[in-house]
Amino acid sequence: MKTSQRLTIVGAGLAGALLATLLARRGWQVDVFEKRGDPRRLGYEGGRSINLALAERGLHALRQAGLEDTVMAQAVMMRGRMVHPQGGAPMLQRYGRDDSEVIWSVHRGRLNIAMLDAAEAAGAVLHFGQRLDGVDFGARRARFVDDAGDPRELDFTTLLGCDGAGSGLRAAMAAEVELGERFEPLGHGYRELEIPPAADGGWRIEANALHIWPRGGYMCIALPNTERTFTVTLFLPLDGEPSFAALPDLAAARAFFAADFADALPLIPDFDTDWTAHPVGSLATLRLDRWHLDGRAVLLGDAAHAMVPFHGQGMNCAFEDCVALDRLLAEADGFEAAFAAFTAERRPNAEAIQAMALENYVEMRDRVDDADFLLQRELERV
Ligand code: FAD
Repeated sequence: MKTSQRLTIVGAGLAGALLATLLARRGWQVDVFEKRGDPRRLGYEGGRSINLALAERGLHALRQAGLEDTVMAQAVMMRGRMVHPQGGAPMLQRYGRDDSEVIWSVHRGRLNIAMLDAAEAAGAVLHFGQRLDGVDFGARRARFVDDAGDPRELDFTTLLGCDGAGSGLRAAMAAEVELGERFEPLGHGYRELEIPPAADGGWRIEANALHIWPRGGYMCIALPNTERTFTVTLFLPLDGEPSFAALPDLAAARAFFAADFADALPLIPDFDTDWTAHPVGSLATLRLDRWHLDGRAVLLGDAAHAMVPFHGQGMNCAFEDCVALDRLLAEADGFEAAFAAFTAERRPNAEAIQAMALENYVEMRDRVDDADFLLQRELERV
């Protein structure tokens, strides 16, 4: 296809910013509309998961956009899982045979900002404070609303939906065509806490690991940040016993941690503030039969296939989507052909990773401290 046409991206999160960079570098005229303000001026207000596990899949995509060096300068290597069994000593389970097979902890806000800079440098035009509010697909006109509620109508050639799990573009497409949407809540939520640096400014626990405190039906994990802090995430059922609902106040939350995460609690001196300030996030899997509306709109990233975070692959998978769509838009004969090829290529991959992410929750919270299971896994690797 001629890459001089105008493309409209909805959402400047992780997928939107990377896609804008890739497409603008190829010569497309790219506009990006993001409902939030510019994080480079206003500070990042991402609202969820402070840091993310970046794997080779995602790194490969960042390389295509020339972003590897910038991102890796702020990444912390995680060479394996550091498992903290109830009452036992921590043990490291390596991801691979050596440090050539590792994953990386990256800060969501900084990553997003680096990618927005790259998108602009490549020639994309970013419009902040612009929420997609509706689409007239017949007239090929999209309606955006700013923070004051003032609307703005815009003609488009095609819409690329990177507006996340609660996608407004997906809702607009669903009014035109059956997307076969299935939304499967996990029934578990998460809350984030922080391990600060030690008194001497160093790390309080092993820096180069993804820490897991498995407790059967629930768990805590912790990922390192470059400031020598760790972001701790408690994953717990929303209802039942134990659950977030069964922890109605700070005293109950503290007592729960003292009993079940006795080794982690002393690492979190601001537990009370963190618990009170950070809301409980929910988790779900989203599956769609259809990712595009002929050549007029396509969905990617969480807008097409939100997943639970236990394989640490939602962002990585979204980045792979961007690379694939960028390539197919250049290769295909028209938008509809590109979007159909994109769906055929990426949907089976996304669905496989979604299934693995659900399975990995059980492994992380229940089996990483099971000696028989670990022995079996070692034998399979030999
Ligand atoms: P988002 O990052 O959600 O971006 C969507 C953007 O669209 C946002 O900027 C939003 O403001 C904007 N937007 C929304 N609606 C509109 C609208 N109507 N108009 C305009 N703009 C709009 N993935 C990993 O790979 N590794 C991990 O370790 C990992 N950990 C996670 C931990 C947790 C607790 C959670 C919840 C997720 C985790 N993920 C992880 C998944 C990862 O966060 C997502 O897969 C990733 O953010 C998807 O990127 P996206 O750009 O599709 O969506």
